[in-house]
Parts: sequence; structure tokens; C-alpha cells
Amino acid sequence: PPPAEKFEYQAEVSRLMDLIVNSLYSNKEVFLRELISNASDALDKLRYLSVTDSEIAKDTPNLDIRIYADKENGIITLTDSGIGMTRQELVDCLGTIAQSGTAKFMKALKDSKDAGGDNNLIGQFGVGFYSAFLVADRVIVSTKSPKSDKQYVWEGEANSSSFTIQEDTDPQSLIPRGTRITLHLKQDAKNFADPERIQKLVKNYSQFVSFPIYTWQEKGITKEVEVEDDPTETKKDDQDDQTEKKKKTKKVVERYWDWELTNETQPIWLRNPKEVTTQEYNEFYRKAFNEYLDPLASSHFTTEGEVEFRSILYVPPVSPTGKDDIVNQKTKNIRLYVKRVFISDDFDGELFPRYLSFVKGVVDSHDLPLNVSREILQESRIVRIMKKRLMRKAFDMILGISLSENRGDYENFWDNFGKHLKLGCIEDRENHKRIAPLLRFFSSQSENDMISLDEYVENMKPEQKAIYYIASDSITSAKNAPFLEKILEKGLEVLYLVEPIDEVAVQSLKAYKDKDFVDISKEDLDLGDKNEEKEAAVKKEFGQTCDWIKKRLGDKVANVQISSRLSSSPCVLVSGKFGWSANMERLMKAQSA
Ligand code: ADP
Ligand code: MG
Repeated sequence: PPPAEKFEYQAEVSRLMDLIVNSLYSNKEVFLRELISNASDALDKLRYLSVTDSEIAKDTPNLDIRIYADKENGIITLTDSGIGMTRQELVDCLGTIAQSGTAKFMKALKDSKDAGGDNNLIGQFGVGFYSAFLVADRVIVSTKSPKSDKQYVWEGEANSSSFTIQEDTDPQSLIPRGTRITLHLKQDAKNFADPERIQKLVKNYSQFVSFPIYTWQEKGITKEVEVEDDPTETKKDDQDDQTEKKKKTKKVVERYWDWELTNETQPIWLRNPKEVTTQEYNEFYRKAFNEYLDPLASSHFTTEGEVEFRSILYVPPVSPTGKDDIVNQKTKNIRLYVKRVFISDDFDGELFPRYLSFVKGVVDSHDLPLNVSREILQESRIVRIMKKRLMRKAFDMILGISLSENRGDYENFWDNFGKHLKLGCIEDRENHKRIAPLLRFFSSQSENDMISLDEYVENMKPEQKAIYYIASDSITSAKNAPFLEKILEKGLEVLYLVEPIDEVAVQSLKAYKDKDFVDISKEDLDLGDKNEEKEAAVKKEFGQTCDWIKKRLGDKVANVQISSRLSSSPCVLVSGKFGWSANMERLMKAQSA
């Protein structure tokens, strides 16, 4: 065979490997989860390609994963019949960090204070392929891509900054397609090469992998065998002896080794929702999305009729981009399957609008073609109907959290995703009715706990016609605004809009339950208590004063009027009915600065 070529790892990989080998001691068993997940990805890719290219899976139609544990020699072999890697892919994939999970891990590590010490992180993020070095000091990857007619073997060692690649020509080693990873376990990890332990780990970590995982297991089969007469036994009369002799058999267990199916391959979304426990949903969430925390809520449903699909949706417990970052457009949060074949998780608004892109889940459709493309997704009527249904379910699920007995759940949700829903007010008029009940605001009567619009409406005075609000940069400045004086004196509640996006969101809604939103900082505030006679008298008395002030201030103000909204302050600056509010002006200024 041609000689092995030597390659250096990318600097980040070297650092990661060093960390894995020398600092991460606990939770070593995650290596198996990572390798199985790669095998499953490789099988997904192959299955996807074989939809349009039937040749590709011709030689090895079985799509599976096989794990062989050699106890005596401390070796684990994991083989998949997936897409494999070409020589170039080996160089590119197993030597650099391009993949999201590992990148996330490195970032978290950087952010965590005791870098390297926190081995919990590895359980949270996984470090992909390199986690093989948690348990192995020598890793051999032999792989055959359908794109190449040669099989290549990658070999790396713990504590080395380089790896080699060579053509695999050993006839014993050749596979028709896919990848075989051989782990030569470290002294202190040799006990992983135990068929029973592997079986347990597979059940624990890879329960939801949708390809069969076989492990090499010792089995027993019970057989009846005839046993010869015991000559020491004292014989009775002849006749008895005859019948006895015929029946003399013994049950023995014959031992042998064979592949045993170790996981459940029915995807969880195909099961009957009544038979799936919350714990199983949570577990699936954590595994499918590589998450550490349980979701806030989940929803499992089937739709029939015009369009048929099954789905499980989740609300994550925290926003991955942080609370201040508003909606990143593209996520990989929805995994689309067509008849159980994974199609794509790369969407940009096709299944959820961007303001709901934080919702995670799986969708399995029966009506889309298997080779569905981006263009088809964007144009498809079926997809449009799916989107509508999915959104409705997502809103129901969020509403469910708000109705939960544990008020903290919704506070948590709102804290993380409130901004997204406000963006929804601005961008999605069609769903105002669904979004509005989910909104929360502080108010003059509830400065510490946010209230819903329903709570506001319930608390309205009988004669009150509008929902009053004031937009400001903080609760303190909102509640000290002179506009509030009269209104509070009358016992009316005022919403405090303290987030920059709030004002535009509320203005987009215009009204809730037929009550208009009214900005109390604008002119012409009508509190429904007009006394025309009195007003006329006041106007007569102070009309000239107003004229005089207007003359003195000139262009600095648009108008000077007599106000009925103050009780102790002598005057107040208000915005014109159709102009920007002071808050908006402040925001615009801040933006252009
Ligand atoms: P990730 O799975 O997040 O991409 P990994 O470090 O686990 O990162 O794997 C790196 C890359 O190596 C994968 O993206 C894939 O291209 C390739 N790879 C790893 N294992 C296999 C496999 N069993 N078959 C085919 N390709 C694989
Ligand atoms: Mg991986």
C-alpha cells in the first residue's frame, strides 16, 4: 500500500485534545453517545441521498450500527453502513473543528472560569469525534465513501499533535460502505470493552436513534438433551426401567454469541401520545437537540385531513442567544422528516416565522415528496398549511405555560422569549389575537409582577374605555412622569412600557378586546370626564396666558393648551397626537447617535 501521510491538527483541535486527554476525567462514557450520533448522522445522509440515487445503497441495503466489544484485548469497534468519508473528507472532518456542538463547547469553556476543570461541560455539549480520546489512546477510523472506490484509514493517538491517513488495503478490513472506528482503550478505561456495559450505555444514551443499533452479545438457548442412565442408580424392576429410560432428558443452556438489537427504533413521535411520559419527551428533547436542561413545555400531536403530519414541539427553557439579543433569523430548531427520513433542519421562515424560531421540534410529513427542495418548501401549499397548524400549536403550548400553576414557569418564559412575541405583534398582524393574551407588562398597580392584558381589562373602571400606557426607559421614570397625576388620582391603571420594543408592539396591536391603547403622554387625553362648562370658563380665564407663553417660546413648541390632566404640577410637555412620543424620540436619537 502507498505510505501513510502525516497531518497536523488545527490548533484548536490540539488544544481540545489536550484538554480531553489530560483534564476531563468524569463522564468519559459520553464517547459512545458521540460516536453513535456521528454514525446516525452518516446513515441519515446516506438514506437521504438514496432517495434520489437508488444505486448508492445497492450493495449494502441495511442501514445499521454495530458495536463489538472485545473484553480480552480492551478494544471497541463501532461500524456503520452510512455515507463514509473520502480521503479529503477525512482530512477536513477529523482534524478541524467546524461542527456546532464542539464549537459551543469551546466557547462555554472559554466563558467558564475554571477552564478545563469543569468536566460537566462535556456532558452538556459533547465534543464530537474527539471524545473518543476520553477512553482510547489509539483511534483508527477506516472508511469507504460511495463517492470513492478506495477505502482510507485514519489513525490518531492521544498526546500527539498529528494524525496519519493511508489507503486501507487489508482484505480483512475492507467494508462495502460506511465507517468503522476502532478504539484501543486506555489502561484505566479498558472496562468499557464489556458487552453488558456497552448494552447499558446504548440503552441509556441512544434510545432515540432511529437506526438499529446491534451489540455483540453472548446469548443462551435452552435445549433439551438426552442424558444417559446413571449406572450407580439402583434399578427397580425391568418394566419400570424401560419407560424411565425413554424420558430421561435434561435442560441445558447452550451459549453462543450473536448480534442483538439494543435500541428501540420506533421514533417517539410515531408513538401514541397517551403512552409517552413527560420524562420520555424531555429525554428525547435533550438528546435530539443536544441540550442539558429540560424544556419548559412540549406538545405532541397528529393532524389529519387536508395535510397529514406528526410533530412534537418544545419551548426551550432558556434563549440560546441570551435575553438581550433579539431573534436570530436562522436556527436549526425544527427537524423535518418525510416518512421518517430526515430531510433538513435548515429553515428560514418556511415552517415558523422568525419571531417563533425559538420553538424546537420534529415534524414528520406524509404529504411532501422525499426529495423536497428548498424551492418546493417555499412554494408549497402543503407547507403553508403545516406552518399555520404548527404556529397554532406553538401558541397553545405557550398559553399552556401561562396557565400553569407554577407562575415562575411563565415568568421564565417571558424573561427569555417575551421580546420574540412583541416582535410578533409588529410582524404578524394575522395572529394578534393569539399573541396579545401572552403579553406581559408592568403597571402602575403592579410594579413588581408583570400583568397580562386580560388582568388589566378585568381591573378597568366601569366607565374606563381605553388601556392607558406610558413608555419610558424605566419604571422609576415612568411613574414619576407628570402625565400620570390625574389618571392615578382617578384610580386608573397605567401600563409601564419600559422595553424599547414595547411601544411599537402596542401601537401595532392598536386595541385589545375592543379597548384602544392610549398613550397618556400625547395631547388630547380624554379621561371621559369632560366638563364643557368648566372648560370654557377656564379657557376664557387663561386663554391669553397661553397665547403669551406660545409667543415667548415661539418655534420650540407646537402649541400651548390648557390641560385637565394635571393635579399638582403646573405644566407638562406632551407630544402631538400624530407625532412621535418622547420615548420614541429618545430611542431614535439613541439609534442615530
Ligand atoms: P459533528 O458531528 O458535530 O459534525 P464530530 O466531531 O462528531 O462533529 O464529527 C466531525 C465530522 O466528522 C462530522 O461532521 C462528519 O463529517 C465526520 N464524521 C464523523 N464520524 C463519521 C462517520 N461515522 N461517518 C461519516 N462521517 C463521520
Ligand atoms: Mg458528532
